[in-house]
Amino acid sequence: MATNEPADFHAIYNGLVADVRSEYLSSSQTFPWIVGFSGGKDSTLVAHLVFSALLDVSPSRQIRPVHIVANDTLVESPLVSAHLHQSLQEIRNAADTLKLPITVATTTPKDEHTFWVLLIGKGYPSPNSQMRWCTDRLKIQPTSNYIRNQVAACGSAIILLGVRRDESEARRKRIDSYGNGMDSRLHPHKDLQGAFVYRPIVDLSTDHVWEILASHEPPWGGTHDRLIKLYRDAAGGECPIVLSQEDAPGCGTNSSRFGCWTCTVVEKDKSLQGFVDSGNRQYSPLIEFRDWLREIRNDPTLRQGRRRNGKITVINDKLIPGPFTLDARRMILERLLQTQQAYGDTLITEHEIDTIQRIWVNDLLAMNTPGDDA
Ligand code: SF4
Repeated sequence: MATNEPADFHAIYNGLVADVRSEYLSSSQTFPWIVGFSGGKDSTLVAHLVFSALLDVSPSRQIRPVHIVANDTLVESPLVSAHLHQSLQEIRNAADTLKLPITVATTTPKDEHTFWVLLIGKGYPSPNSQMRWCTDRLKIQPTSNYIRNQVAACGSAIILLGVRRDESEARRKRIDSYGNGMDSRLHPHKDLQGAFVYRPIVDLSTDHVWEILASHEPPWGGTHDRLIKLYRDAAGGECPIVLSQEDAPGCGTNSSRFGCWTCTVVEKDKSLQGFVDSGNRQYSPLIEFRDWLREIRNDPTLRQGRRRNGKITVINDKLIPGPFTLDARRMILERLLQTQQAYGDTLITEHEIDTIQRIWVNDLLAMNTPGDDA
């Protein structure tokens, strides 16, 4: 991991904190900052830099509000979810104690858009690469709505992302294609009108990120050891903050090892398997359930002929099956509840089960009501 002398990393770190501080105090300072926080290494480093920079600004100049916003899909990989929520609580406690202008928030999918309500309630087939209905509803919409609300309230908002050129060739090309916006560090967000993007660690290498995290304790207290262990146990990778489909090339691929535990887009869940291999055997029932959910996706006996809008889709003389049948949805719920019992913790909430049962009743009453395009 180490490629340079430790002193270099201190200099790089100090330079980054100074840059973030100067941007915080720049002319756009009436506009809130929104730090997209996934609990992964890159967004943790951005939150770390922002917190440190704020400690370096006198209270009278701490005018700009900062929001540290995480998105919880409600089907996050359990160890990642525990780490995420613990980190948020630590940041919240320290920010309150130090009276910093930081709000910590978690966004979640709407009640009618959770993974279980769409899969088991409406019968959406387990997502695959052709029909990845989940990313928008579970990740993009909740965070985008939070940002839109800030833009509406404050006239604009600046999103801080932990994206870096060396994450991948595709990421480098995308970053290089951005024009600059209102000043050299910001560029307008492509999909969220009135929002700008600031990328404080865009030129850091992965090694630099790890070196800085390992050699600088978080300003909210404790160490980054839990994060480092998490990556070690899951064999690396992360699911970054997702604000558009283009932001999500790794969502539902083997390079995204910190995605939803239910993700059937990937062939194997290497992250969860990594946790099991490193001793967390309690996750085995989750892996078995996910594998089963992936297997049954293309069983024609479990799918309706018609889509939810009542239409039949035929492509090249081939019938494209619609959602899971009601019997299949009941079977999936039953198996999920058995998995939940074996796992010993909540996987689906009572509220989701109520919502699912309401949808089933409506589907029984009006199977072919138009208006739902899944
Ligand atoms: S990780 Fe998988 S299930 Fe979760 S939003 Fe991404 S593609 Fe969908």
